[in-house]
Amino acid sequence: MPISTTNPATGETLETFEAMDAEEVDRRLERARTAFEEYRTTGFAERAELMRRAADELEKDQDEIARTVTTEMGKPVAAARAEVAKCVKAMRWYAERAEGLLADEHPSQGDVEDSGATTAYVRYRPLGPVLAVMPWNFPLWQVIRFAAPALMAGNTGLLKHASNVPRTALYLEELFRRAGYPEGCFQTLLIGSGEVEGVLRDRRVAAATLTGSEPAGRSVASIAGDEIKKTVLELGGSDPYLVLPSADVAKAAEVAVAARTQNNGQSCIAAKRFIVHREVYEEFARLFTDGMRALKIGDPMDESTRIGPLSSERGRADLEELVEDARKHGATVLCGGRRPASHPAGWFYEPTVLADITPAMRIHREETFGPVATLYRVADLDEAIEVANDTDFGLSSNVWTRDRAEQERCVRDLRAGGVYFNGMTASHPAMPFGGVKRSGYGRELSGHGIREFCNATTVWHG
Ligand code: NAP
Repeated sequence: MPISTTNPATGETLETFEAMDAEEVDRRLERARTAFEEYRTTGFAERAELMRRAADELEKDQDEIARTVTTEMGKPVAAARAEVAKCVKAMRWYAERAEGLLADEHPSQGDVEDSGATTAYVRYRPLGPVLAVMPWNFPLWQVIRFAAPALMAGNTGLLKHASNVPRTALYLEELFRRAGYPEGCFQTLLIGSGEVEGVLRDRRVAAATLTGSEPAGRSVASIAGDEIKKTVLELGGSDPYLVLPSADVAKAAEVAVAARTQNNGQSCIAAKRFIVHREVYEEFARLFTDGMRALKIGDPMDESTRIGPLSSERGRADLEELVEDARKHGATVLCGGRRPASHPAGWFYEPTVLADITPAMRIHREETFGPVATLYRVADLDEAIEVANDTDFGLSSNVWTRDRAEQERCVRDLRAGGVYFNGMTASHPAMPFGGVKRSGYGRELSGHGIREFCNATTVWHG
């Protein structure tokens, strides 16, 4: 894949970048290592000051960087500004909380004595330079979600961003430099995915995190496994959205539209499979389809646009293949299912609802990365949970019910990293984010996230 900025709303390539050569990558790895040796000795107050300054700078740049993001990957510009605000909030959150989250942990005095110690505790120390392989869909947020805790813990960061968002990738390096971080604390590597293996195997790189597709995750995890290096993987999702009879069906349908089409439908935690109890199925299907049909498709730079283009021609082709396969196997198209005639240029696709899904269809198993929803009609909660869990993914899940017993049952039985009731999945710095099964492992955000790239060191005094 060339490293370039191509506007998905027009298909026009605006800028192409040379990948960094081996010498430049080597220089940057060396800088990450030497920077770590100094930076790891800094205190939380100093790190927090730097992180707050970076947050302030990002906030000042909000409008401009939001337009860059929209130009590179096509999300509506209002959503890009919201992404910036979310990053600023997470940076300030970690600036404020990191010290508490990584405070020494003291076992009970009884356990300390039982170990033969006079005193003993756990100290969280940084690991070293961490490689972050990141996707284009939330090109600021995915990086900050890693960088804010990793830097606050005392690690240094090396970003290999997706090849279609190079301007955003370069901006992020510049942001941390402008905030006053020592040289080498956070660097962007403009390299293709073929160069990731060499970086990952380099002795100066301590660990890696990858957000992206399953094949990319498998590759990075196996190389890191071979090198015995810690990884966190945030991969795909096909989140279920259950609607049960006690739900506020109108609200559930309204939120379902937002949950499915956020980021032009290209979000790992977007609700993708809508599993509806037969008692409320007709009503939900009608309201949901009406809502999807009403979304305004248009230029993502226009403030009123709700659906922009998909990020790439390949992404749209993959989605079209899934819809065609479903149609061939008997799915009913309730709305959409085609490119909008009003937007012949760029990689647009109409919000689509498909019903009568069967296991014979690829769409039953595979992730739809675009504004395409699948509808399932179920007889009861047992069947709803069975359909929800009938997937290789396990990122998050959404359930609409006011019944406490049903809620408890879902917390117990839904195999996913999150269970969200009467609302849609959205990450927050205070809550862990991550999946099970093929959605990956490890957690980002909260105390769980910041400890992923720490060495939990036992300190024991005889
Ligand atoms: P992708 O192709 O896997 O790309 C993600 C990153 O991995 C890019 O930087 C890419 O570089 C790199 N990459 C690709 N193949 C690689 C390989 N074999 N070795 C090393 N690096 C490799 O993902 P995508 O299709 O663009 O992004 C969408 C996927 O990400 C979806 O499955 C989505 O669900 C998932 N996602 C997950 C989360 C989460 O938090 N769980 C969040 C967002 C997205 P190049 O661009 O240079 O190829």
